[in-house]
Amino acid sequence: DATPGATVDARATVEAGITGAAGDTGSPTHRRRAVPLAEAQINVADLALTRGDGIFESIGVIDGRFIELDRHLARLEHSAALLDLPRPDAAAFAAAARRGVEAHTREPELLVKLFYSRGIEGADTPSGWIEVLTGDDHRAARSTGIRVVTLDRGYRHDIAQTAPWLLQGAKTLSYALNKAALREAARRGADDVIFVSTDDVVLEGPTSNVLLRHGDLFRTPRTDLGILAGTTQAAVFETLAARGFETLEAALSVADLVSADAVWLLSSGRLVAPVRELDGQSIPVDRELTGSLLAETFGVPPVPLP
Ligand code: PLP
Repeated sequence: DATPGATVDARATVEAGITGAAGDTGSPTHRRRAVPLAEAQINVADLALTRGDGIFESIGVIDGRFIELDRHLARLEHSAALLDLPRPDAAAFAAAARRGVEAHTREPELLVKLFYSRGIEGADTPSGWIEVLTGDDHRAARSTGIRVVTLDRGYRHDIAQTAPWLLQGAKTLSYALNKAALREAARRGADDVIFVSTDDVVLEGPTSNVLLRHGDLFRTPRTDLGILAGTTQAAVFETLAARGFETLEAALSVADLVSADAVWLLSSGRLVAPVRELDGQSIPVDRELTGSLLAETFGVPPVPLP
């Protein structure tokens, strides 16, 4: 279905104009249209583009099953509230996401992105769209693990309370800083980042939450520390608790990271990635536990040992 002369990325579909605010069905922008990625367009005056003024969600899909869809929709609504955006039409987003995934049923893993923007400057109508992408190959990250560096986020741990206008805890479209941090990690020979507050509190990764193990105790940073409430972390905690482990949201220091029996980064695409190196120091990877968390929580088939 490629247009002559245009490069069409058949792996990705965009559904454009799927939603305004909840209940807004009369808007002329309330069109529903699925197009190949290369044909998708956004208005040059859309505030998502000109100011990064909008929010998004990335949702994993395994064998056609959405991972934690309701938690993602709830977080989209939460982010919208933090940005004083009209409540998004969660049902329209979910329906568009399902249609997008149905068009790609043969892919074992997909990533569906929901976007919700303040809309075209001056128009006062939010715009929304979804994108369906084939997932990256996460098998190596999930099995052998990733190398991580700690980086200063430049904020104190209580930023969400002292300066809520900085929107920490909202999943905004302003991810240039997160991407810059990942490039810094690459310059330091690592794959990913754990941000630390200026007062030594472990926060989150640029696209992930942190999980630490000390014996039978599993901890993750508290969500009042200006970080995102992770959907993957919530799901993994349910599995751990069902297995009888103790789970806790806490304020954790870099010393806790260093002394941990194991560390993971949790996120929607990669799901559960064990950290094998922290600031240049090797740390043990529990492949069996990682594999069973992936299988039990998300139905990810085990990666054979090399
Ligand atoms: N923290 C940040 C800053 C993120 O961008 C993400 C996900 O993209 C997460 C945490 C993990 O959230 P989830 O597990 O819901 O993907």
